[in-house]
Amino acid sequence: MTSFDLTPQKREELLGLLLGKLESYYADTDALRVSPPLDIEQIQTEVRELFESSGSELEATNTLVEKLKTFSVHTPHPDYFGLYNPRANFAGILSDIITAYFNPQLAAWSHSPFAAEVESFLIKEFGQRFGYPSANADGVFATGGAEANLTAVLCALKHTHPDYAVNGLMGLNKRPLVYCSHESHHSIVKATRMVGLGSDSVRNVAVQSNLTMDTEALSQLIQEDLDAGHQPFMVVGTAGTTGTGAIDNLSAIHSIAKQYNLWFHVDGAYGGSAIISNRLKPLLKGIEHSDSITMDAHKWMSVPMGTSMFLTQHPNILSETFSTSNNYMPKDAGGLQIVDPFNHSVQWSRRSLGLRVYLSLLFFGWDGYEEVINHQTDMGEYLRTSLTKNGWAITNQSALPVICFTHPEYANDSEFATYITSKVVKSGLAWVSTYPVQGTLKVRACITNYSTQKSNIDHLVQLVNDAKIEYEK
Ligand SMILES: *Cc1c(COP(=O)(O)O)cnc(C)c1O
Repeated sequence: MTSFDLTPQKREELLGLLLGKLESYYADTDALRVSPPLDIEQIQTEVRELFESSGSELEATNTLVEKLKTFSVHTPHPDYFGLYNPRANFAGILSDIITAYFNPQLAAWSHSPFAAEVESFLIKEFGQRFGYPSANADGVFATGGAEANLTAVLCALKHTHPDYAVNGLMGLNKRPLVYCSHESHHSIVKATRMVGLGSDSVRNVAVQSNLTMDTEALSQLIQEDLDAGHQPFMVVGTAGTTGTGAIDNLSAIHSIAKQYNLWFHVDGAYGGSAIISNRLKPLLKGIEHSDSITMDAHKWMSVPMGTSMFLTQHPNILSETFSTSNNYMPKDAGGLQIVDPFNHSVQWSRRSLGLRVYLSLLFFGWDGYEEVINHQTDMGEYLRTSLTKNGWAITNQSALPVICFTHPEYANDSEFATYITSKVVKSGLAWVSTYPVQGTLKVRACITNYSTQKSNIDHLVQLVNDAKIEYEK
């Protein structure tokens, strides 16, 4: 029988090879094309061929790394100006290696008490940073903003309809409604489908010209829905929209939530990290009054994918929403004051996620994070200035490093933005996307990598300038 452990010599050989290859990828990411040409047939063939080849473990590992290098959009690249995907910081990478070896089971506290306490500790730390009183700050790590937002909808339903956990929607006689802006993330819509409300229960509130929620429209919509016999139960303010980095007026939303007795959730999947920067923190004013927060560490905190936090200042709501009893896990450790993560989470078997954030903070501290967050914000400002100097027009007003732009001559020409974007992406020299602002597509560039410098931005401006000349030919 083959040994699943391999031999110590073989393991050493494999690790030696892998470390060398990964280190050269990490050190020289910027030497690669940011994105590969996408030939789906070729990729499918390569997947099959590697599967059918009969190479050694060494060859298999080697080829796998090579294929990822060839067929990935390199989000860790400093010329990747894309969606909020980070370059994973090295502490995050190390913690994933550690996690892979120990494979901690975070369903129950008793199996992985240290890793579980790391998560509890971080949840309190972040809760307090957002202004929740320490005694009430609670939460859970989640795989992403989508899961954290689903958790929020479930908690909001349980909070506003105490029998929901038992009777589900069948126990309700009015239609529960969720409010969020037109610019909010589609994971809210998915969450309403998953809980059985359906997407018609999402009320998309109009936005103002700065793309934040029009709170007067919110009040009006709630009032109309109440008059129609529905039951508004939740409002989601977005702190850093996915498209343009807009931050809703959280204080104003809180007042309305209070007036109508709604659960106030802040989706800070991206922008929540602004809380770490003293300079940016004021933008999140009002978040301290929220009932819950989504905050992704795998966006602006640059840890590997799959790391989000759901935070709340209702210390019992997660247990009330998720607690179930079962006979196959050891019971709580001798009546100690501990939280079994499965009683707090959508998940059962669960990977340790907190270690990535913990080790990163051990390495760099809050100050280190503040520095990189400010750096990225500065680079965003530099991109705005450079684009403006080159005759481009900025079409969004975010204080975060998310820039949507076009050329004034083509302000209403979606084709122009599509052309520029595709030209840049196809060159393999940078990655940008498009996003509709004021009814037409604009080029969208986000500083999402802590290693992006002025030279990368100068290069991007050069690329869009060149693409514009091409467009005009
Ligand atoms: C990215 C994002 C999400 C989804 O988070 P994932 O971690 O990608 O699941 C939700 N809301 C906002 C505002 C986002 O930017």
